[in-house]
Amino acid sequence: MTKPSTVKKEILIVGGGTAGWMSACLMAKTLGSEQFSISLLESNNVPTVGVGEGSTPYIKRFFDALEITEAKWMPACSATYKGGITFANWSTKAGFAQYFHPFTSSLDAESFDVFKQVTRLKHANYHVDAHPNYYFLQAELVNQKRIPVSQDKQKVDSIYAYHFDATKLGLFLKDYACSLGVKHIVDDVTAVKLAESGAIESVTTQSGQTISADIFVDCTGFKALLIEKTLGVNFKSFKDNLFNDSAVAIATPKADFYAPHTISTAMSNGWRWDIPLTSRTGNGYVYSSDFQSASSAEEELRKAIHIHDDVEARHIKMKVGRLEKHWHKNCVAIGLSQGFIEPLEATALHIVQLSIEQFIEQYKRGDYSDKYQEYYNHGVNHLFEHIRDYIVLHYLTNSRSDTDYWKACRHDIKISDRLQAAMEVWCSGGDLDEELNCQQVTQYYSSMSWHVLLAGMGVFPTSNQTTPISHPQAEQALNDIKRHISAHTSYFPKSKMST
Ligand SMILES: Cc1cc2nc3c(=O)[nH]c(=O)nc-3n(C[C@H](O)[C@H](O)[C@H](O)COP(=O)(O)OP(=O)(O)OC[C@H]3O[C@@H](n4cnc5c(N)ncnc54)[C@H](O)[C@@H]3O)c2cc1C
Repeated sequence: MTKPSTVKKEILIVGGGTAGWMSACLMAKTLGSEQFSISLLESNNVPTVGVGEGSTPYIKRFFDALEITEAKWMPACSATYKGGITFANWSTKAGFAQYFHPFTSSLDAESFDVFKQVTRLKHANYHVDAHPNYYFLQAELVNQKRIPVSQDKQKVDSIYAYHFDATKLGLFLKDYACSLGVKHIVDDVTAVKLAESGAIESVTTQSGQTISADIFVDCTGFKALLIEKTLGVNFKSFKDNLFNDSAVAIATPKADFYAPHTISTAMSNGWRWDIPLTSRTGNGYVYSSDFQSASSAEEELRKAIHIHDDVEARHIKMKVGRLEKHWHKNCVAIGLSQGFIEPLEATALHIVQLSIEQFIEQYKRGDYSDKYQEYYNHGVNHLFEHIRDYIVLHYLTNSRSDTDYWKACRHDIKISDRLQAAMEVWCSGGDLDEELNCQQVTQYYSSMSWHVLLAGMGVFPTSNQTTPISHPQAEQALNDIKRHISAHTSYFPKSKMST
């Protein structure tokens, strides 16, 4: 195995969006300043994407690694707690107008066991309630407007995520990275020079500087200036799997209280987010430009959130897909430059974080030898493909017929063989747990998440291969779960009223 060299290495991160500053912070903290010198170059002329306000629970590990407490970063970024996502109007099936996708709690293991069995009873038209909201603690916390932070972790605990202002988070991380010794350069890259080996030798900037480095981190957003435009790494589009390629965002005043969940509401040709911050509410409509124009999408969003023309709207084009290689030669792409799966489950920063962590890990193991690049690229591609499958499942299982868009999502969307296999197992009443474990995908989305999504959309097995619990046993078990959940909600404080 090749050991990392002892000569000090120069790392140049190009791009100062959330991905650039997250990379700078984690690399500076983890790699240290003795062996590495880290600089971040960003343009004052190219704005950051300026959205990305919801996270998964994984980001807690990022702040922990940086030793930054919630008390320090959350107020600075107008952040609120998030216990999961409410999906509204995705299903037209009676009783399934909305469902909640919860982050897990210590009470869920038992409830999930019952829930799995109850979903299999549905095919026989048993009237046991198989709506996921009854089975999981965090759904009840949202119902009672409680934040998902337990006051007694011995008795009950839960994982949770956050909402935050993306611009404020970028500024916060910039200060932190600079305090760790990261050099900040404001300039525009105008040219990139390659060495004979095909690796990047240096970048030239508008002010005439030539900056060389050993490792270049491409955080230039959808432009992918280094990895795609310069090194020519191919981009694999997900256009056949995910139709949405555009978004329009409008901020509104903060709500009366900080709702501890993101709301994703289906619209005529996509869905809209509602993200509560302590300073404002973020709203955005993610849609397909093949089915709706930008002006009509903006009009539809304004109508839904009751906001007139005097409040500015931002239109964003999305490049949905992934690079074939995220680390090529001496360049690693992090953030929108490496790819993007639309924001339905707020997974982009999760991928950013995992990519940086994995890069540092593989780099430390093998310098930048081909073997470790291959491990890395394989791992990140796996992550993209599996998260994409889970996102596709939302569209595939919708039951709306009000527009061609929703019908196309059901009938024309291309699905992977893995997703097809999982759907076949589910519909035939087979063991979805076993299938997902065989596919080795539960580290991305747990079996509980898959069951909640399918049942939450009102999609149940049409036949049964196993003998689940009896109808009376299921009813009794659900009553026990409800009692158990309600005995534990008081460990979680009520969400604050905004003042
Ligand atoms: C509609 C939408 C909603 C989203 N919602 C979520 C969400 O809820 N949760 C989530 O995790 N993610 C979300 N994302 C993704 C998230 O916004 C991004 O992953 C995140 O902001 C990181 O972006 P970035 O830093 O890669 O790129 P950008 O923010 O685009 O930054 C690019 C940087 O590169 C610099 N640059 C470009 N060209 C040059 C040049 N020539 N010279 C020097 N510098 C240059 C720019 O100045 C800028 O600093 C969403 C994305 C979209 C489009």
